[in-house]
Amino acid sequence: MRKLLIAANWKMYKTPVESTAFLTSFFPLVKNNTSTEIVLCPSMTSLPALVDAARGKTVSIGAQNMHWLAEGAYTGETSPTMLTAIGVTHVLIGHSERRQYFNETDTTVNLKLKSALAHSLLPIVCVGEHLNEREQNLTADVLNLQVSVALEGINPAALGSLVIAYEPVWAIGTGRTATPEIAEEAHKIIRAKVASIAGSDIAASTRILYGGSVKPDNAQTLCCLEDIDGALVGGASLDPASFSQIIANATQTA
Ligand code: PEP
Repeated sequence: MRKLLIAANWKMYKTPVESTAFLTSFFPLVKNNTSTEIVLCPSMTSLPALVDAARGKTVSIGAQNMHWLAEGAYTGETSPTMLTAIGVTHVLIGHSERRQYFNETDTTVNLKLKSALAHSLLPIVCVGEHLNEREQNLTADVLNLQVSVALEGINPAALGSLVIAYEPVWAIGTGRTATPEIAEEAHKIIRAKVASIAGSDIAASTRILYGGSVKPDNAQTLCCLEDIDGALVGGASLDPASFSQIIANATQTA
């Protein structure tokens, strides 16, 4: 049984005060939730305030990025040890905006994944094709390559906590959601690739989230599918009412 996971990616939005105000409104809306793992990924400056505010609650706090090294002369970077030291438990790795604007590659994704696992951070590795790749029927090739490089050199025994987010780049922030058929097909490709690398047990326990314009009105249709184990939500996670409604709708299928 894979536990449903719904994660919020707040990108470069919300100050610490705005982030804790979100939680004050959000907690009562999800107080009865027990079946879904909820993760909020705010900006770096909001992490300490949110970790404090979420203590003892069923909401976990994740970072949107990290360096793979524990320390060093890397101006502007944040290390995994810095994240765990303040109580962060999850980390997004290789979001398409990081690949597009900050030169992240499959190779740096692999380094970050190894590091997250070594530091007991739960990794959410983002993969997904661009529109032109889909139009050229390259989706399977792109996903297979992204997943195989991400997992390269990692002992399957270490992959028990792995989460992958399938985020077609053409669906992120565009209001254009993948159809259930497109999403399910991509998730099956990813799961089969994980199975070929790490074995069928790891593949069966790996949660694969869908991300790309998830809203309250499409969360249920997507999350009820066999290979979709939750969602990574950008824009619609910024508002407590809409994010809690996504969780409620997705959970109906669990
Ligand atoms: C994201 O940023 O990961 C994302 C899926 O964004 P949105 O939900 O706004 O498309």
